Amino acid sequence: MNAVMSIQPGKLTRLPARRGVAIRLKQGQSIKLINTHGKQVVDTWAFNPADLAEAMSMEHSRAFWLKLNPSEGDSFLTNKRQKILTLTEDTTPGVHDTLVAACDPTRYVQLGVVGHHDSCNENLFLALENLGLKVHETPSPLNLFMNVPVHQDGCIEFAAPVSEPGQYVCLKAEMDAIVVLSACPQDITAVNGMQPQDVHYSVN
Ligand SMILES: [Zn+2]
Repeated sequence: MNAVMSIQPGKLTRLPARRGVAIRLKQGQSIKLINTHGKQVVDTWAFNPADLAEAMSMEHSRAFWLKLNPSEGDSFLTNKRQKILTLTEDTTPGVHDTLVAACDPTRYVQLGVVGHHDSCNENLFLALENLGLKVHETPSPLNLFMNVPVHQDGCIEFAAPVSEPGQYVCLKAEMDAIVVLSACPQDITAVNGMQPQDVHYSVN
């Protein structure tokens, strides 16, 4: 069972380890996402509630910023090149990932897992289902707090997050948006420091 959306402004809400949540934001509202234990990756999506086919796009955002990684003040664009979210505050060292797809059931099978394993892709679908919504494609996520170093030779790797307990990011909605968060259940690679943990968020 996925968490339901928080509607009380400012109320700190727990997003349990391995779970997802979908939150409706009005234009101008912000979500504060706290990495409570420091090493938890949160896959993040944003959709236009009037047209779920319009979604926050890492490809379009990187072309807009001319860099791989957002900094404070950077806005994320949709696949229709509209601003949807702005990173207004980031108390972490600023290491996030915009390159890597969300984990999904096939990813865990390929990693040798037998039987069901929670995944960010399933969390996305379940969280939207809780709002009575469905998408047919999974956009590339904004992987908040995820540390995917890009080396000089072009190689990348999966490394543990460099954020510390209590550090947070704030994302402001530049248009009405449905934001989906997934506390990544990856425990086979080091992306969550091997131990998926709870995170907390509030909406203002
Ligand atoms: Zn994941």
